[in-house]
Amino acid sequence: EGIVIAIDGPSGSGKSSTSKGVAKARGLRYLDTGAMYRALTWWMLDNGVDVHDPAAVAAAVERPVIEMGTDPASPTISVDGRDVAVEIRTKEVTGNVSAVSAVPEARALLVRTQRAVIDAARRESAGIVVEGRDITTVVAPEAPVKLFLTASAEARAQRRSREIHTGDVAATQADLARRDRLDSSRAHSPLKRTADATELDTTGMTLDEVIALVVTLVDE
Ligand code: C5P
Repeated sequence: EGIVIAIDGPSGSGKSSTSKGVAKARGLRYLDTGAMYRALTWWMLDNGVDVHDPAAVAAAVERPVIEMGTDPASPTISVDGRDVAVEIRTKEVTGNVSAVSAVPEARALLVRTQRAVIDAARRESAGIVVEGRDITTVVAPEAPVKLFLTASAEARAQRRSREIHTGDVAATQADLARRDRLDSSRAHSPLKRTADATELDTTGMTLDEVIALVVTLVDE
């Protein structure tokens, strides 16, 4: 049976780069669960579903077929067979994803899909690194390695700005703060820090340092 590495944290904490780096270093598969919430959101917007109407979102969650490729060197995401890697990173999707991810029916469906991907990876490979907001608590609480990544608001905004190629770090920081608030203020808030996850503050660390540290935890 392959190993499961569960990594949670807010956006800009270094989750994605760290998870991919660790997966490559140890020959594991990789799953970005945020991309799945984004893909579902993209489909809702593209199909005229009012994402601020939870009943409308709940009624539509089963319609799109969302598929992920788990190679950390080139992860893929498609909806109904269409590659949506670029589409899911637009401002429009980023601005609406919190509304969709707050709908319990959307979470239930994606958590089920995520567990199926994890089970397949455990059977067919050395294991998988899974990143998101609720991996250590809901999706894979039994994972032997559980991490909660954090970083200062400034460090997160700087990283995110580089990712999306904007020089406006202040605007990015405001946007992150807004999404943090939306992601944590609702009843079913996914992002929770639990005592059994190892907290890692990556402020002031380089990506290679973070990856090396996590790899030592995996090897223990
Ligand atoms: O990680 P990323 O910024 O791509 O996640 C996009 C959004 O998806 C988050 O802001 C959050 O609303 C949602 N999400 C979630 N649970 C996860 C992963 C992401 O609710 N496990």
